Amino acid sequence: MNDQELERTDYTLDEETSLRLLAISSMFRAEEGKVKTPETIIEESITRIHITLLKSKAAYAQIYKALADKRQRIRDEAASSPVEPVDYPDEFQDLETGIESVFLKRKYRCPMCENAFTAPALKTGSLLVKVDQRTQMEVYTGVRQDSEKEFVDFSLFHIMLCPKCLYASTEKEFDLWDAGAKNPQWIKRKHTKIPQKIYAAFHNNIERRMRLAQSAGDMGRRLFSTERTEEDAAISIDLASDTLEFLIGKVSINRKAELMYQLGMLNLLKSLQFEKQLEDPELSNSFQEIKKKRLDSIKEALKCFIKIPDSSVENFDVRENVRFNARKFWAAHELKHLESFAQAGASLQRTYNQFNNMVKKAEREFQLEEVKIGKLRADMNKAKNIQKKEQLANQVKEIEKNLQLIRSGLENYRGVVRVVNPIYDTISVIYDKFREMQRQRKRQAVG
Ligand SMILES: [Zn+2]
Repeated sequence: MNDQELERTDYTLDEETSLRLLAISSMFRAEEGKVKTPETIIEESITRIHITLLKSKAAYAQIYKALADKRQRIRDEAASSPVEPVDYPDEFQDLETGIESVFLKRKYRCPMCENAFTAPALKTGSLLVKVDQRTQMEVYTGVRQDSEKEFVDFSLFHIMLCPKCLYASTEKEFDLWDAGAKNPQWIKRKHTKIPQKIYAAFHNNIERRMRLAQSAGDMGRRLFSTERTEEDAAISIDLASDTLEFLIGKVSINRKAELMYQLGMLNLLKSLQFEKQLEDPELSNSFQEIKKKRLDSIKEALKCFIKIPDSSVENFDVRENVRFNARKFWAAHELKHLESFAQAGASLQRTYNQFNNMVKKAEREFQLEEVKIGKLRADMNKAKNIQKKEQLANQVKEIEKNLQLIRSGLENYRGVVRVVNPIYDTISVIYDKFREMQRQRKRQAVG
């Protein structure tokens, strides 16, 4: 092995390896002409093996580096290749709003860039809606019996997109044009205006959203038509997730929790769509793949839910608090995430007990006050003395006031119970079993 031989190799060697090989080969030359003993032959062979190993190591490093470079180049190219901008329509051109259609035409305004556009809304009461007890999401199941309208799975349109900046979110995040008002005007849905700085940063990465949007049908145009397919809808959810992830990095802690919850919900929505795909016989070939995607979305959802601090959840309206815990419970159950499962289950049980007890207590109080007022009225009727009569009438008034208070409290608690009970009924079978198992384990550990 000499210098030329080294240079003739197909591999390009890194500097350190080349120097080591040169040193070894010059050692060989110095020893040339000497009589070879078995020891020198062995030594030479070992050295040759070393050289071969070093060469292959260097070659591998080279190959890996080349592959990594290539991957990076592809990524860079993808990121830098200009996206052919598509002018998305401001109107859903194919939006039919006639008698047979479930769609309404509504005008919205983007909170990010203030662009106004038309998007479909749903005619109230034209579709049958069911609440999915696990995720607490609305699911469209059919058309009302007396209706001649054509069924549309309106969940495909839950995400609205601004055609200009591709801000994507649910309907309530956009300002709504109130055309029916005496003085038609925009109804502001947002409490705070998006600051100029955030708006500028959002615009800076429009290419990424363009690329994402263009993966939907007809270069993304199908997102702006009633022809949206489930795949398009999934892309619209990805765009909404992208919007939320962007905003989460820019807002205050309190708002962050709220957005994190929305992001979790989007992932749950996505998991429901994959669930629908699992029932589609045409997709049976990719069953395993869809199954994995479904679990991945649930995993993403749970990740978001876990990130929301307890203090924020406590600030939710009690009904939303219950829905949140039901969602967390279900996701944790699907993923066998014991800690979140136990936590959400305990919280649901606490609220269930608390409000059912409050209802019982208020009902008892109400009954007692009614008995009291009945007696007072009877006494009042019997009383001959005017002063006594007046005194009793005042007491009756006091109790009437009290009854009114108890009644409104009762209505409120019953409202919460109506939300909590069906949710708790669904989860309690699983949760109670889990608690029983825990108790048994504890007993075994003690015994
Ligand atoms: Zn916009």
